[in-house]
Amino acid sequence: MWADTTYGAAMPSVLWFRRDLRLQDNPALLAAVEAARADGDGKVVPLFVVDPALWDPAGPVRQRYLVESLDALGASIGRNLLIRHGDPVEVVPEVVQASGASSVHVAADYGPYGSRRDRAVEEAIDVPLVRTGSSYAIAPGRITKGDGTPYRVYTPFYRAWLAHGWRSPADDPPADIDWWMPMDCQGRPEVPGFDELGITLPPAGEQAALERWDAFRASGLADYDELRNRADLAGTSALSHHLKYGEIHPRTILADLTDGDDGFRREICFRDFYADVLHHNPTSTSASLDDRYDTIMRWDNDDDAFAAWAQGRTGFPFVDAGMRQLRAEGWMHNRVRMVVASFLIKDLHQPWQRGAAEFMHWLRDGDLASNSQGWQWTAGCGTDASPFYRVFNPITQGLKFDPDGDYVRRYIPELSHLPGKTAHEPWDVLGGYDHGYPERIVDHKAEREAALADFAAIKRSGA
Ligand SMILES: Cc1cc2nc3c(=O)[nH]c(=O)nc-3n(C[C@H](O)[C@H](O)[C@H](O)COP(=O)(O)OP(=O)(O)OC[C@H]3O[C@@H](n4cnc5c(N)ncnc54)[C@H](O)[C@@H]3O)c2cc1C
Repeated sequence: MWADTTYGAAMPSVLWFRRDLRLQDNPALLAAVEAARADGDGKVVPLFVVDPALWDPAGPVRQRYLVESLDALGASIGRNLLIRHGDPVEVVPEVVQASGASSVHVAADYGPYGSRRDRAVEEAIDVPLVRTGSSYAIAPGRITKGDGTPYRVYTPFYRAWLAHGWRSPADDPPADIDWWMPMDCQGRPEVPGFDELGITLPPAGEQAALERWDAFRASGLADYDELRNRADLAGTSALSHHLKYGEIHPRTILADLTDGDDGFRREICFRDFYADVLHHNPTSTSASLDDRYDTIMRWDNDDDAFAAWAQGRTGFPFVDAGMRQLRAEGWMHNRVRMVVASFLIKDLHQPWQRGAAEFMHWLRDGDLASNSQGWQWTAGCGTDASPFYRVFNPITQGLKFDPDGDYVRRYIPELSHLPGKTAHEPWDVLGGYDHGYPERIVDHKAEREAALADFAAIKRSGA
């Protein structure tokens, strides 16, 4: 607990980067510079802590992306990023001690682990931990209903979010920040297993994020509403990994939108909404918001069926293309995420938590809030009036959102000989299975009925 009066003496400040790996539009950075200039000789220690509690479960895709993002951040501050490894509750006090800093600056973290960690760090240092801003347009917990309770349904949240409004982007940082490393940098961590995956990641870092946003604004934003569901086209922004690591702030994006861009604004708000839901329901990363799903549903945990889904061998081309895209790129189109999630839950009757964990292992944008709430929404046990009885048909979804079969052929070589939309229904084509594509592992119609029967049991249980 900080209680003494060292704050105000001639000392540097520490800027502890976490999910905000950028210099522009970074209020915590401005606060750190201001504190250092007011209280000391203007030195700022730029710190990143490789915390095993976050690093170990991240999986090689996000680990590598993070390392590349840290490289980019380090380059932009003249190779002065202080990387230390270990539990922040031990590492941050060591850095404060070594630097003689008078304050530690962060963007507030509202996740279950992050907020707990920050409280523990706050207890462990004898200078203030100053939270300025967050990774969201509007911080989780700010938007509530008239009676002060949180929203559970998206559209009213969106209306309230619009009415509340958000700050303009923060001022540019000063060009002459005196970055300072008071101790040895322990360097970027190794990422075992990444090279064997054969995944090419998109460029990381703030510059790449701003360039991606500019490119999308120039050539994709106007057609976003029309094309965003097309799995075969690059109709979305591909900004999710940049947003995940705070290489660009959502406020920077929102400031560029005009009245006609409501469709895209709504998606940026979805990210805020899901962070808000997680903030109010910290166990919802593993427990269903509607707990009847965890107590009444009898889930199947068939490992072979799960492996077929995870490896893209279910015999349903749109589902398999999605899961293969995930492993090939560390990313999957949003429409396909919904379809593969629905398939695992409602055709294979497996718990959403199992699928969510698989996504978190592979996604370069893997984000606890968006991922767990996205899975809960698809399962029908989460936010929104999202009913369990909405079961995505993996074939008609494919025909609608990949009308010429290009997406399926791109990821499934065994179907590349099938022209146009026939790639979605190899069972209807002579020679459809000639190149080794597997037969369907379930009968969608029958499994849909079974899922609906389960749902009826939940409804009968009342509550
Ligand atoms: C089962 C499931 C799991 C998901 N897991 C994640 C995840 O781990 N991380 C993640 O960032 N998104 C997740 N999403 C949301 C969405 O699929 C991705 O944000 C989107 O595909 C990223 O591509 P984009 O940047 O081109 O999106 P765009 O369509 O260009 O959208 C712009 C931004 O808005 C936000 N956004 C868009 N849709 C959503 C949404 N449904 N929920 C929350 N934010 C959204 C993202 O930050 C995105 O980058 C998940 C969705 C589902 C259905």
